[in-house]
Amino acid sequence: MLLPVVGLVLAGACSMGKCGIALAEEAKPAAPATNPLNPQRAYGYLNDICAIGPRMSGSPGMKKQQELLQAHFEKLGAKVTYQEFMAINPLGGAKVPMANMLVEWHPDRKDRVLLVAHYDTRPLPDRDLDPVKRRSGTFIGANDGGSGVAVMMELANFMPKLQGPVGVDFLLVDGEELVYDDNRDPYFLGSSWFAKKYSEKPPEYKYRWGVVLDMVGDSDLQIYQEKNSTSWHDSRPLVKEIWATAGKLGVKEFLPSVGYQVRDDHLPLRNTAKIPTCDIIDFDYLPWHTSNDTAQHCSGASLAKVGWVIYEWLQGQESAQAAN
Ligand SMILES: [Zn+2]
Repeated sequence: MLLPVVGLVLAGACSMGKCGIALAEEAKPAAPATNPLNPQRAYGYLNDICAIGPRMSGSPGMKKQQELLQAHFEKLGAKVTYQEFMAINPLGGAKVPMANMLVEWHPDRKDRVLLVAHYDTRPLPDRDLDPVKRRSGTFIGANDGGSGVAVMMELANFMPKLQGPVGVDFLLVDGEELVYDDNRDPYFLGSSWFAKKYSEKPPEYKYRWGVVLDMVGDSDLQIYQEKNSTSWHDSRPLVKEIWATAGKLGVKEFLPSVGYQVRDDHLPLRNTAKIPTCDIIDFDYLPWHTSNDTAQHCSGASLAKVGWVIYEWLQGQESAQAAN
């Protein structure tokens, strides 16, 4: 994910007081709801991912992660395939083998939702305070790279029994940030590749929505609505649905006002593949792109809450006929 291009606009069109009242009303569930997702298990998944070490595109760590994830998702009943392509390392020009991982649940359902997270990690902690670490330190990417994957691993326990008309694909994109220099190197290689292929040769099924999960593990979680997602007419209803679900469940970490505008994997998915897509991201994370982006700054509670909102929202999807 790239630096936001516009500053934080928290209050938006309404006053802070009004937003506070709206939040309190929406957050009050009719009956106490309990989260079926398991925070300890979700945090365990995050630790398993981080224990691999750095997972940048084309690295042995990425290979190990793919093996871990494929075994996990297949054990729970998913169909796992890879979309392979080549990229160029912007530092030195070497070829880098890339692979997006597609994890399909209920592939027989032709009306589908695409859930997306990047599973590569940035090559270096280039925003670290220590200049030596910026050039040669280790970047674990617990929140930035690990958290979205951990939410999917936890959600996978519930996907086989997902009721309703929609099937779900988890898309783990490679090369989100094979980036050494923000001003030189391209972001979103995996999602751009996926979007290009999808638009060139549309499959027989259709994605009704796309949802990107990025940096959703911060132990101090605050997820504002992302500004691109709310500005696009086709993804705005999706943002509304997801935040309304969070309000219904009483997950107050989803704040019902507009925050940063972020460049992330939702751009190619929405603009090239034409899938209405939103970005769920907590950008306000101090260890971002530093060697401190480790699991100790994340929490299982945050991962489980985000997963719960997504799971509840998926369960509430109606058939296309009912929605019309
Ligand atoms: Zn990043």
